[in-house]
Amino acid sequence: MRMPLCVANWKMHGTLAEARPLATGVRDGLRRVKGVEVVLCPPFTALAAVGEILAGSPLALGAQNCHPEPSGPHTGDIAPPMLAELGCRYVILGHSERRRETGETDELINRKVRSALSHGLTPILCVGETAGERRQGLTFTTVEGQLRAGLAEVAADAVGRVLLAYEPVWAIGTGANATPGQAGEVHGYLRGLLTELASKETAGAMRIVYGGSVKPENAEELAAEPEIDGALVGGASLNVQGFVTIVKKTAHSGAVRGA
Ligand code: PEP
Repeated sequence: MRMPLCVANWKMHGTLAEARPLATGVRDGLRRVKGVEVVLCPPFTALAAVGEILAGSPLALGAQNCHPEPSGPHTGDIAPPMLAELGCRYVILGHSERRRETGETDELINRKVRSALSHGLTPILCVGETAGERRQGLTFTTVEGQLRAGLAEVAADAVGRVLLAYEPVWAIGTGANATPGQAGEVHGYLRGLLTELASKETAGAMRIVYGGSVKPENAEELAAEPEIDGALVGGASLNVQGFVTIVKKTAHSGAVRGA
């Protein structure tokens, strides 16, 4: 059984005045919730403060990006050891907003993935097709290309340390989520590729989370799909009650699935 996992991607939201009550509310709201792992990914500027709030709780800290180098002349960038020092355990890489807005290529994302792994961080590698690609029947081609490129030269025994996120671009921030069937089909395909890139055992143990307009209303049916191992949540993670509900519903579906 794979333990479900929910990741909160706060994106560019969260001054300290906003981040502190949000992290505190989520931590306290999930005090008695079992059977699910939770990662909060605030902006860089709030990592230290949120890390202090989560200390001693089961909730983990994650960042939204990193540079592939451990240090160097890269003005404005943040290196993996800096994240590890703050207590980060995860880092989101290859998010479609970064691919689109800052032109991140598969090659750069791959360097980041390998660097994150070498510094003890779990990369949350995001893959997903655009609406046009889906219309043209290119969904599997797109995600396969992103997965193979993202994991290029990652040793088979390290592949299992990656958390994969299927995030169809057309579903991110649009309110229109993929159906459990649509997501499950892609997750199954990705798991097949992971079998080839690592092993059947590794692929079977790896978690593939779904992201794209996950909200309290759809979290349970998405998590009930056997191939969906949790959620990467953007907009709905900025509301304490909303995110706590998503996590509880994910835990509940995971428990039902495993029963
Ligand atoms: C995301 O930021 O990865 C995301 C899935 O956003 P949203 O939940 O708002 O669609």
